[in-house]
Amino acid sequence: MNLILLGPPGAGKGTQAELIIERYNIPHISTGDIFRAAVKEGAPLGLKAKEYLDSGQLVPDEIVNGIVKERLQQADCGNGFLLDGFPRTIPQADALERCLAELNRKITAVINIEVDFEVLMTRLTGRRVCRNCGALYHIQNKVEKVPGVCDHCGGEIYQREDDFPETVEKRLQVYRNQTEPLIKYYQNKDLLFSFNGEEPILVVFQKICEVLEGKF
Ligand code: AMP
Repeated sequence: MNLILLGPPGAGKGTQAELIIERYNIPHISTGDIFRAAVKEGAPLGLKAKEYLDSGQLVPDEIVNGIVKERLQQADCGNGFLLDGFPRTIPQADALERCLAELNRKITAVINIEVDFEVLMTRLTGRRVCRNCGALYHIQNKVEKVPGVCDHCGGEIYQREDDFPETVEKRLQVYRNQTEPLIKYYQNKDLLFSFNGEEPILVVFQKICEVLEGKF
């Protein structure tokens, strides 16, 4: 199953990704996670990507395309994969198609999660993360027991720089301008399945499974 998860930042792609990869036993390829890990390690890729991440801009296509191409050739992608946060531009989608053609593979389905922009602003600007284990919190509906301390590992809870309000606005604007056109792109290829990301997590997941299992 070769899947793409599409949707604006904050739509819940990461959450659905975790559920999907567990159920279908395929690797989760999140370009955002790859960049954040490289920044944390101080790797050369991280040094190149940091300014784009912090300002909410997209990392240039050539860099992202190369990373994904390399990743898709690894053995664990043999039975399928879930791309999360890639492609994000039409040139990235074209590059992905070329790369998959070389590997004799095709996209099976594109899962598009839709959420109102006002809701996204609240979700993202209120999001907090544990610096140590990555656990997610929210100032309105998932508050830690001891302020600033992770319930799971005792790590420090902080706000990602790209969740600051100015940066969130920039990220949503970038999504509208550069990523939203992919909805039509995949609709035209008859690959797009859209879901209401404002429904409860497990309801969305159930509907995604119904579509995927109905297809195969
Ligand atoms: P995400 O966690 O998917 O929201 O990604 C965080 C940041 O990583 C984005 O705001 C971009 O700076 C960068 N990034 C992730 N995926 C891509 C991509 N496919 N193309 C360009 N930049 C990306």
